[in-house]
Amino acid sequence: MSALQGRTAVVTGASRGIGRAIVRRLAAEGVRMVAVARSRDALEELARELPGTVIPAAADIRDPAAVDGVRDLALDRLGHVDILVNNAGVGHFGLIEELTPEQWDEMFAVNLKGAYLMCRAFVPHMKERRSGHIINIASVAGVLPTPGLALYNASKAAVVAFTEATRLEVRDRGIKVGAVLPSFTDTELIAGTRSPRGQRNCRPEEIAAAVARMIAKPVPQLVVPRRLTAQLRLMGLIPDPVKRAVARYYGLDTLFLDFDRNARKGYDSRIRA
Ligand code: NAP
Repeated sequence: MSALQGRTAVVTGASRGIGRAIVRRLAAEGVRMVAVARSRDALEELARELPGTVIPAAADIRDPAAVDGVRDLALDRLGHVDILVNNAGVGHFGLIEELTPEQWDEMFAVNLKGAYLMCRAFVPHMKERRSGHIINIASVAGVLPTPGLALYNASKAAVVAFTEATRLEVRDRGIKVGAVLPSFTDTELIAGTRSPRGQRNCRPEEIAAAVARMIAKPVPQLVVPRRLTAQLRLMGLIPDPVKRAVARYYGLDTLFLDFDRNARKGYDSRIRA
């Protein structure tokens, strides 16, 4: 039997991509959970796929009242919440002058403020129980600044800092906090981009497996794939010209500038809707 059997969770961004894979993985481990996103139909489909396990909660995590509603629903239906996975996120790529203030606001509102509002809603409950685990899905982009990603980089670097500060703030109150930093993962969020040279993209299930690993063995940060952990640390130490050569080798200097803008139209219109 899984060590997670009988635990309860709330997972945001559960309607597709990485979040849906996290819900499926946790469900397979015996976790009952509230699944949050704006797309009600997709959540209800997931609840039908995993009967008795998933409670759909259609909510926009940018809205404090909606987030408090998610907390009330979760406590009412689950009794208590052991695990909070802040996964919902959006990404816009391109030159600084090409991206808009609205896209900046959207990225910070979903990626950062959404995670903060969810923590604000659930931390008091976890403190009261002296137990809980919060996992924020940040990104390798939170520690690896890249041309064409300035806004997304900034939002995810903020998530990394927010996660670590939260961890330090609540660690003596029985609450574990950690960030999972995925690299390129095959979801609609990276539509139109190529993979870095010689690398394959992760599958959403690999990120879900990392979340399950982090719950079973709490650590402050987990990079996926794991082999990038040392490379990312090194990038912080090497001189700028070497860093530039490495980025050029992998194509990271152009990946988020020369992407297929047409292929991202579906993604852009979906998240706007
Ligand atoms: P995705 O397939 O586009 O899924 C994003 C999820 O976030 C959807 O379920 C979406 O649901 C939800 N969401 C967006 N805005 C929301 C809002 N205002 N309120 C509630 N839910 C909202 O993207 P993904 O790749 O799975 O991304 C999941 C997380 O992984 C994000 O934080 C992303 O930054 C991170 N990440 C992704 C990659 C990658 O390469 N794919 C790499 C590193 C990190 P609705 O549209 O139904 O609301």
